[in-house]
Amino acid sequence: MGDSYDEGCDYLFKAVLIGDSGVGKSNLLSRFSRDEFRLDSKPTIGVEFAYKNIRVGDKLIKAQIWDTAGQERFRAITSSYYRGALGALLVYDVTRRATFDNVAKWLHEIREFGSSDMVVVLVGNKSDLSNSREVGEEEAKNLAEKEGLCFMETSALENRNVEESFLEMITKIHEITT
Ligand code: GDP
Ligand code: MG
Repeated sequence: MGDSYDEGCDYLFKAVLIGDSGVGKSNLLSRFSRDEFRLDSKPTIGVEFAYKNIRVGDKLIKAQIWDTAGQERFRAITSSYYRGALGALLVYDVTRRATFDNVAKWLHEIREFGSSDMVVVLVGNKSDLSNSREVGEEEAKNLAEKEGLCFMETSALENRNVEESFLEMITKIHEITT
């Protein structure tokens, strides 16, 4: 997880995880920050975030990534969650169409509360569950293109594309802000 000191870091970026409950946000974060995965779903108690140091070119970036405390269940994510965030991973579950249909709702919230130049990566998680897939990759790609988002399918379980999706977001933020 890294320490909380910014010594030796060139930049500190805040990014947020959003998306419906149960899509795998917390597991994506634990996989990325500590290489851990949990089979049971345990909503985070209180707002939690993790730090990860990433080297982009000759710069050292400290990414502070916020996870919801399960407020998304009650549609009660507040503007303070988004405050100062330069990026977001907007996560849906490829095996639950309703979570993909709600992407529009989350985009609306990002545009209401987030900064206008926030980097958003659309993430279709649980790509390992190919037998119960309800959302095709092509369809999601089209939506991402239409909305001007980056897009990636991931599996927190199999550790597929997890680091790549966070790095895509962080690299883009770096391009925009420096
Ligand atoms: P959150 O509510 O969005 O934070 O979702 P969680 O990270 O708590 O995950 C919800 C459930 O989905 C848990 O039972 C996880 O074990 C499971 N899960 C998360 N990511 C994956 C994945 O990539 N593949 C599979 N098969 N299950 C996953
Ligand atoms: Mg969670």
